[in-house]
Amino acid sequence: MEVLRRKSELSAWLSERRGVPRVLVPTMGALHRGHTSLFDLARREAAARGGGEVVATIFVNPTQFGPNEDFAAYPRPLEADLAKCREHGVDAVFAPAAAEVYAADRSVTVTETRLSARLCGASRPGHFDGVCTVVAKLFHLTRPDAAVFGEKDYQQLAIIRRMHADLFLSGEVVGMPIVREPDGLAMSSRNANLSPDARRDALAISRFLAEVRRRFAAGERDASRLVAGAHEALAPGRIDYVEVVDAADLAPVTVVERPVLVAVAAHFGGVRLIDNTVLA
Ligand code: AMP
Repeated sequence: MEVLRRKSELSAWLSERRGVPRVLVPTMGALHRGHTSLFDLARREAAARGGGEVVATIFVNPTQFGPNEDFAAYPRPLEADLAKCREHGVDAVFAPAAAEVYAADRSVTVTETRLSARLCGASRPGHFDGVCTVVAKLFHLTRPDAAVFGEKDYQQLAIIRRMHADLFLSGEVVGMPIVREPDGLAMSSRNANLSPDARRDALAISRFLAEVRRRFAAGERDASRLVAGAHEALAPGRIDYVEVVDAADLAPVTVVERPVLVAVAAHFGGVRLIDNTVLA
């Protein structure tokens, strides 16, 4: 497995492989089973394209963190991450320094203007500009035949699909279902920052989403009744949002008539967690 730190190394590696299909998996590292499932899916996508290769990126992207967010505290266990990449058949890891990705005098940002306004975009101003900008850069640097993203970050995936279509980016965007701990907690690099108490309390999120699915299965179609009792259910977590939105355009919904996304963001012991489920 190649570990490439510079754009020049990446482009040299890519030019040795002209004609070999490749699948991109962008990550911020602190890899867990959610990420390694993306690598496994990427391997299958690469094989389906005829012996293709998997390129992972590990980059804690500064521009997607707000001034009071956890950029400095974000875990960065690079050696352990590289071992996981090797175990899961990644062919090359691009792990650049920030200065390699962002010129000091840069003045171009990629902004998606509709889907980004809600949910995480409302509580994290500028977050999706940072995501779109770095993902567009990674597409341009690697020109993948496919790129794999997780449904754990459902809004991010929807925005990336939109950007991919609007900017004619290369290849295909592939989504991967949420990977969970055995007790239901959605896997996240931020789980490493949870205290044991906060880790236990955070289970309330997936329990609440399971309850919402039960209500839906029992015939409930009123959006506010579907998510009624969220504050009690998620206590002592501090809710950022609990919303029922159209699964395609993320617009708020009052009565469920088409597939909807039920999305939750909440803080547990100072750690912001997100999770979601689709009702269809
Ligand atoms: P991150 O390193 O958090 O930026 O995530 C990198 C990629 O992994 C994104 O496409 C995420 O949606 C995806 N991902 C993170 N956690 C999970 C999970 N629990 N299940 C599926 N995909 C995930």
